[in-house]
Amino acid sequence: MKVIAPVRDHDTFGSGLYGASRDGGKRTHNGIDYACYPNSQVLSVTSGVVTKLGYPYKDDPTYRYVEVTDHDLRRFRYFYVKPSVSMNQMVIKGGILGKSQELNRRYVGITEHVHLEVKDQNNEFLDPNDFI
Ligand SMILES: [Zn+2]
Repeated sequence: MKVIAPVRDHDTFGSGLYGASRDGGKRTHNGIDYACYPNSQVLSVTSGVVTKLGYPYKDDPTYRYVEVTDHDLRRFRYFYVKPSVSMNQMVIKGGILGKSQELNRRYVGITEHVHLEVKDQNNEFLDPNDFI
């Protein structure tokens, strides 16, 4: 994901916009999906520190996410990214975090993308558009 990548449009799994509805309105999409081919370089939209290298799916440890915390203690999570950074590593804005992973293995027909979500210190979701 380069800083400016196309937002995932509506496919059979829904829309990649911030606030889009999921499961018939039961859930909300709390991030933005940036369409990209698998194995694309994913760059950090902010400077900060790597504070978590996590697993989005309990049943599939091959999928990963990278969390970067900025100086205002906002947490930026990049989902479906194979990390090339390590825990507590400093990253600069535009620095490489890893490579995007193939989602069609799990969701056949989905537009390949990286999901970015941002939370503030109170654990409230923020609109990633405000940081891009
Ligand atoms: Zn998403």
